[in-house]
Amino acid sequence: MATISSSRSSFLHGQWTSSDSAQLYGIPDWGKGYVSVNATGHVTVMPTKDPARQIDLKEVIDGLRERGVHTPVLLRFNDILDHRLREIRKSFDDAMAEQQYAGGYSCVYPIKVNQQRHICEEIASLAVKLNFGLEAGSKPELIAVLGLSAVAGGPGVNGMPIICNGFKDDEFIETVMLATKLGRNIIPVVEKWTELELIVKHAKQYGVRPKIGLRVKLSSRGAGRWESSAGARSKFGLFISEVLQAVEYLKKHNMLDCLNLLHCHVGSQLYDIRVFKNAVNELTHIYCELVKMGAGLSMLDIGGGMGVDYDGSQSAWSSSINYTVAEYASDVVYRIKSVCDDAKVPHPMIVSESGRAMTAYSSVLVMDVLGCSKFESNPDIEAIERELKAETEPPQPVIDLLDAYRNLTDRNLVEAYHDATQARDEAMSLFSLGYMSLRMRAAAEQVFWALGHKLLERASKKGELPDEFEALPELLSDIYFCNFSLFQSMPDSWAIDQLFPICPIHRLNEHPTRQAILADITCDSDGKIDHFVDKRIDKKTLELHELKDLPGEGQGCEPYYLGVFLLGAYQEILGDLHNLLGDTHAVHVSFSENGSWEIDEVIEGDTVEEVLQYVQYDIPDMKRAMRLDIEAACRQGRLTLAEGASLLKFYDDGLEGYTYLEG
Ligand SMILES: *Cc1c(COP(=O)(O)O)cnc(C)c1O
Repeated sequence: MATISSSRSSFLHGQWTSSDSAQLYGIPDWGKGYVSVNATGHVTVMPTKDPARQIDLKEVIDGLRERGVHTPVLLRFNDILDHRLREIRKSFDDAMAEQQYAGGYSCVYPIKVNQQRHICEEIASLAVKLNFGLEAGSKPELIAVLGLSAVAGGPGVNGMPIICNGFKDDEFIETVMLATKLGRNIIPVVEKWTELELIVKHAKQYGVRPKIGLRVKLSSRGAGRWESSAGARSKFGLFISEVLQAVEYLKKHNMLDCLNLLHCHVGSQLYDIRVFKNAVNELTHIYCELVKMGAGLSMLDIGGGMGVDYDGSQSAWSSSINYTVAEYASDVVYRIKSVCDDAKVPHPMIVSESGRAMTAYSSVLVMDVLGCSKFESNPDIEAIERELKAETEPPQPVIDLLDAYRNLTDRNLVEAYHDATQARDEAMSLFSLGYMSLRMRAAAEQVFWALGHKLLERASKKGELPDEFEALPELLSDIYFCNFSLFQSMPDSWAIDQLFPICPIHRLNEHPTRQAILADITCDSDGKIDHFVDKRIDKKTLELHELKDLPGEGQGCEPYYLGVFLLGAYQEILGDLHNLLGDTHAVHVSFSENGSWEIDEVIEGDTVEEVLQYVQYDIPDMKRAMRLDIEAACRQGRLTLAEGASLLKFYDDGLEGYTYLEG
């Protein structure tokens, strides 16, 4: 038997409150103190985890609307970013103090996680204060990182560690050598042998003593999705035999003191702490041996991979992690210290490249629901019976379905379901063979879905869902259409089935009575979300509120907003232009002096013109062609002059407008 989701079971227990919603959506579990619900039923963000400083998301969205900024909008909270960086700093400081670790710690931000300027500048300026640094994995990222460190650094610029991973060509290495001469604390990490030769060549040419890192192929493997980032078949790093050759090579060139850093990276979103323990253990053993061979090592870079508990379950599976930041810090420090102490090697400076863990919490997407499609749960059964009687040959399957519906009791749920499924299938084949009318086919479907709803309701009241009905909630769920593109705003949901927490940002003191899946506005059938976070079960539908129609035909519904949380890592930059839906607006929100929220920055999303230009359309050309076409239509009397002018205006305004629907 499957357990029934909590909204169904707590349905009968009186007044629904905000805390029921918090529990239902698991907000305290995945929110980790950054997200909460207030008494008015709105989701709030607490950027510093201080309950006295809450930002009401619905208020922010209403405020933005008044300023003409419409959903979908990505809200960024730099205060969360700061809080996360300080938390990582503090966790390592505490672990090092407790274990009397002498080597120090620095976290370098791999900008590939989110290269948006406003985020990188915030991190870079804080990095100066926390002794953190930046990481670049490609030529454009190197150029960005050199500029960022110059802007942020001030007098501290030359202390900030800059780690260069990824494949490097001649020009890349030459730039790094010149940046070393400039005074930067820049460390190229050798991923493949030829890079070492280039480093030695350019170091000699410019007369610099560079800091060199080596990435090692470990035998300890990662786990989960990025398992192949490590191990002998990984794309990156040197085999141990090559590491030894590198030591010889550097010795020959009188540069062994330049070998400063040893690096590994075993994958992203590592959910099991044991993977780190094994990798760090192996890397530290290699480190100690190389120190004894005379390498000038002083830094041990354990790469990225610190995960985020997206579903709040604190467990070892892909959307979660079985450790906290403090446990991660404590284990890493402990492993490195014990191996070094045994080998009588000084404690190295620990470097980690924890990108996801730094940024994931700081962005929230808010989108509006455009409408929904649902199966009628209470069709007019009498009307269906009248229609049935009017048929010259009433089809047996429809008669059977109606019987099953009428005679449903608590005792025959499973039997009724089997009968109904069979009758429905028979009805569909009769229709396909041409023996049943379209009207009767509609009746069969309506009665079947109504029966499904009734079954679920009765089963829920009993508190248990028989296994036979497991697929039913999903089958009967509504589809809520949301104003966003999955491919632009949460690509990992599509690409690797990553789960992100989603819940309404208001109406949380109302009981959500609908079960739904979400669909985006791309025309791609993959553009939907049908898995949701839950601590206990594989949740295939999300509890949502009934949409409230606005008065008048065709007026749509009252605004209903959903928030998608923990989008700060990877999603923005991996997003694509599917259906030419571009970047959403991004708004930086912070806490003001007077205790309310304020908007620091509005970065407007792409316009239609911008995305079209990106795919090489010639906008003036298209405008000219449209104008000529419209003029011809006016001349020939197919459009009035006023109609022509309106169409042209729509076209021009459309080009300047948002790529999403603007309500
Ligand atoms: C991607 C990457 C990281 C960042 O990993 P996270 O899982 O975001 O911490 C760090 N180092 C290297 C070499 C990477 O490729």
